[in-house]
Amino acid sequence: MSELFIDGTWSPATDGATREIHCPADGSHVATVAEGGPVDAEAAVRAARRAFDCGPWPATTSLERSSLLHRLADLLERDKQEVARLETLDTGKRIVESEYDVDDIVSVFRYFAGLAGAESGRVVDTGRADIVSRVVHEPVGVCSLITPWNYPLLQTAWKVAPALAAGNTFVLKPSELTPSTAIWLMRALTEAGLPSGVANLVLGSGARVGPTLTTHPDVDLVSFTGGLVTGRSIMAAAAPTVKKIALELGGKNPNIVFADADRETALDFALTAVFLHSGQVCSAGARLLLESSIHDEFVDELVRRAELIRLGGPFDEAAETGPLISAAHREKVEAYVAAGLAEGAELRTGGSRPTDASLADGFYYLPTIFAGCDASMSVVRDESFGPVLTVESFTDEDDAIAQANDSIYGLAGAVWTSNAGRAERVAGRLRMGTVWINDYHPYVPQAEWGGYKQSGFGRELGLDGLAEYRETKHIWHNIRPAPGRWFDGRKAPQS
Ligand code: NAD
Repeated sequence: MSELFIDGTWSPATDGATREIHCPADGSHVATVAEGGPVDAEAAVRAARRAFDCGPWPATTSLERSSLLHRLADLLERDKQEVARLETLDTGKRIVESEYDVDDIVSVFRYFAGLAGAESGRVVDTGRADIVSRVVHEPVGVCSLITPWNYPLLQTAWKVAPALAAGNTFVLKPSELTPSTAIWLMRALTEAGLPSGVANLVLGSGARVGPTLTTHPDVDLVSFTGGLVTGRSIMAAAAPTVKKIALELGGKNPNIVFADADRETALDFALTAVFLHSGQVCSAGARLLLESSIHDEFVDELVRRAELIRLGGPFDEAAETGPLISAAHREKVEAYVAAGLAEGAELRTGGSRPTDASLADGFYYLPTIFAGCDASMSVVRDESFGPVLTVESFTDEDDAIAQANDSIYGLAGAVWTSNAGRAERVAGRLRMGTVWINDYHPYVPQAEWGGYKQSGFGRELGLDGLAEYRETKHIWHNIRPAPGRWFDGRKAPQS
């Protein structure tokens, strides 16, 4: 059985509780893991606090932290196949996607290793010979890192890498549905030489473990990736102790196609945008906006191609997409589709579970397309986080931008056109943290990732990804102190 990792020690949950992990693709048993509760979360926070206040890690040099992250990346390269297999068994995603994810995670650790190594403060020139003034960066302290199930180790890496690069200690709580690669990570961090208590792992449900991690006075920062409703409650929970917060929440992302776009490419990517990982991607292009002159023809062809998408298990090389994460999540997607039908959206394909008997033990759902939609419908406004595409049409550039921005979310979006000027104009006016032009989904660790509006705040990756995890301090050192009073006629320094 896999256990909790607190203060450098593996231990069962205090109350002995366990959870069974099953593969969503076929229901097969994957692992039995400890199911932590509030007492375990408390112990983990205290361990992280001790390690921060009294341990060697926050005082390590930036080069030492950089080396550790490089060693971690080396271990991930060594264990690539095992980690990909664990991720695939927990999530049901295709093994080839898990392998890509591992490559991405290696890049994330190496990117933050580079940033850590380049860390430096700066001297501020006050123009005065009696003062030495400088700005330094320091870690924030104890971080609660809370992650979702769709890209379990990738989302974890986006938090763990900058937290360590800046010298923090942390408690990690992965989704209760996908704990396996977080367990691997703790073993790898130990092997890489991280001191005890710096990295702690509490497995368990958000409802039981979450409150301690988001309200405990010893926690300085909460970094959360997950749904909007959970994000709102975490923000409220963290308010009384004024914790620093970073929230990466959901999205309902528009994919805008103008009539002059390269049709074949736009069709392929309209499918990739929404059906990759069965739509369980925060930046999924689940809202297709088509210029009215191409609408009918584009939708017909899209439906034809969507019906050819092959569903299958994670080790089935012919499969193009896999199951949803759980029975409960599939029911949520089904309720969302039912709402679309009730609102009058026109179901063009999908809208049900597959009938193929070989998929009966998994949580599969057919790629689904609704046409005839508009932004007043909940099926357009809400995030389904499943394989469901809604199609709207627009008349011109202004109309496309107005419709695309008509959302509480602002995570990502895309525009397809062969008119470079229009592409830049639209990208500049979309209120989203990431905009792709003639592409969908790629990201690089060098560029910031995060949402506008209710898709969250704070940035992961890029230079700001490290900024979230450090404090910046100005040190003013008077090197010629002398007696005197400000009110005796001397001029006070500018303040
Ligand atoms: P979720 O909000 O249900 O859970 C996310 C994590 O929060 C889990 O570990 C869960 O156990 C924990 N949690 C739940 N309640 C909590 C509480 N009260 N206190 C503390 N922790 C709590 O989300 P999910 O279903 O795991 O993930 C899907 C969501 O994540 C989607 O909305 C998706 O858009 C979003 N997401 C966003 C990004 C991004 O970069 N913006 C990336 C991936 C996923």
